Amino acid sequence: MKYNHIGQCCICGKTCQLTKEHVPPHKAFNNFKSQGLTGDNFINALQNKKYKIKLNQSGSYDYTLCAECNNHTGKWYAEDYVNFIRSVHSFCNDMPENATFLTLEADNIRMGNIVKEIFAMFASSLQYNRVSDLGIDKYLLEKENFKIDTSKFKLYCYMNFDYMIEKTGVISAFKTDGSVITFASLKTYPLGFVLNLNPKISDKAWEQMLDLEDVIKAENNLIEKIALNIPIINNYQPAFNTKKLIEDIRNKSTNSN
Ligand SMILES: [Zn+2]
Repeated sequence: MKYNHIGQCCICGKTCQLTKEHVPPHKAFNNFKSQGLTGDNFINALQNKKYKIKLNQSGSYDYTLCAECNNHTGKWYAEDYVNFIRSVHSFCNDMPENATFLTLEADNIRMGNIVKEIFAMFASSLQYNRVSDLGIDKYLLEKENFKIDTSKFKLYCYMNFDYMIEKTGVISAFKTDGSVITFASLKTYPLGFVLNLNPKISDKAWEQMLDLEDVIKAENNLIEKIALNIPIINNYQPAFNTKKLIEDIRNKSTNSN
């Protein structure tokens, strides 16, 4: 039986046959179980209603890109990302047991490509409208373009030792002060990422993470020398964090009645 995956490509916006893409790339330790909890299912889970978890037994993949965008991002950016992830993994072996962060030092690293691959991974969670609003489409479709307007988002990164891949769609949640955080989370081994889509509103959980703004603002692919201090965050659960926020607001409204 042939399955058809007709839809809108998350990077170029074309409506066509979509192709299978691994997020993260298969060679970047994407051969474990993964779970996806998005949209209504996420909200239902928080409210103890029925929800569906999309569980992939053999890694995490989706059908969100046209063949051309899938090939381009795979060919242009994925290899540098895979090498980066594998070197982070090898650094992990030499880490003291009670370490709170990992210092990653590298020479002549194509950091621009690595960041672009992170955005390519997020594209499927964001959908095309938001991708184009943020300028991620142009940024990814032009191979040598490393410029992107950083005023509309913040990208954070942290060390994660949990093998279970967790992707969320775009989530908005109220904080107790009434402000709204909007973000997407991509928890992969050994690095997890959060894309904050309302950068004026921060959150304690993200302040502990490494902000990649300087790397993005370098607007250059090759970086001669880099030292990244990447915090280790065990059991980071965006869902848990958000649940807490929603409970807070629920308690607040009960108290005021
Ligand atoms: Zn496309």
